[in-house]
Amino acid sequence: MDVKIIETIAEILAKSKNNIVVTGAGISTEAGIPDFRGENGIYRTLGEDRVTKILNIDFFKKDPRAFYDFYRKYLLLPFVEPSLSHRILADMEKEGYIKGIVTQNIDNLHQRAGSRRVIAVHGNAERYICTNPHCSKTYDAEYINNLNDVVPLCTACGNVLKPDVVLFGEPIQNYTYARDMILSANVVMVIGSSLTVYPIAGFVGEFARTGKDLIIINRGKTNMDHLASVKMDVKQAGIVLKEIYNCLSLKFKGGCFGE
Ligand code: NAD
Repeated sequence: MDVKIIETIAEILAKSKNNIVVTGAGISTEAGIPDFRGENGIYRTLGEDRVTKILNIDFFKKDPRAFYDFYRKYLLLPFVEPSLSHRILADMEKEGYIKGIVTQNIDNLHQRAGSRRVIAVHGNAERYICTNPHCSKTYDAEYINNLNDVVPLCTACGNVLKPDVVLFGEPIQNYTYARDMILSANVVMVIGSSLTVYPIAGFVGEFARTGKDLIIINRGKTNMDHLASVKMDVKQAGIVLKEIYNCLSLKFKGGCFGE
């Protein structure tokens, strides 16, 4: 591990009072949820075109049965515990090192790890909502998972339920809040995202072009590496975050690593 980069990241975070973290699917792979673009991700195994065609709002409306056949087979999240990264970020918020998280993830793991200020722009896969706008009754994932019928229907009005996740063709949730949080930050630290999914990738690009510090911690390349003040290519974000947190806790007394 490159200790100098870790010290640099800790120093950037320690100097600023307004640090925002942006997370993608890569922060949850260590918890046991595969990302889409990684080696075992469904973009690789099934093809991106097929996935994006089915996980689309028009497809859902036209053929909910085919949508749910696919969704139940490939998208239902396993019940897992938050990873080391999720837990460290929750601790960092409590200690005041970060102000909040904008996440593209739908797994609810930041919230379950104890992070309080989380903006989940792609929704929450643990919730389902009735598509009848006059009803909008909500259900938890356990209810849908235990149902015998493929297409879940609302017990109150009989309409189809939709996972509370943003499908292709739908606007993200909390657009303005997420954009303001990112653009008003002094430092943005991205963890486990390829920064290819818009509009969040666009907000991060806009932020970096103001000249403020963008830190990227990711396995492999991202689309914004050229804009980053610090880019760290990692195998596992959790181990690196733990070192950064230790370094911040030591507050540079004699150097984080005792050099
Ligand atoms: P993405 O664009 O956020 O890419 C994930 C990135 O994380 C990849 O570059 C990968 O190399 C990196 N990565 C994987 N494991 C890592 C680790 N241990 N440490 C550091 N980096 C790691 O995400 P995607 O997979 O292209 O998914 C696109 C969208 O699909 C997401 O924005 C999200 O809405 C949804 N999705 C959510 C989940 C979830 O909620 N856990 C999982 C899959 C997909």
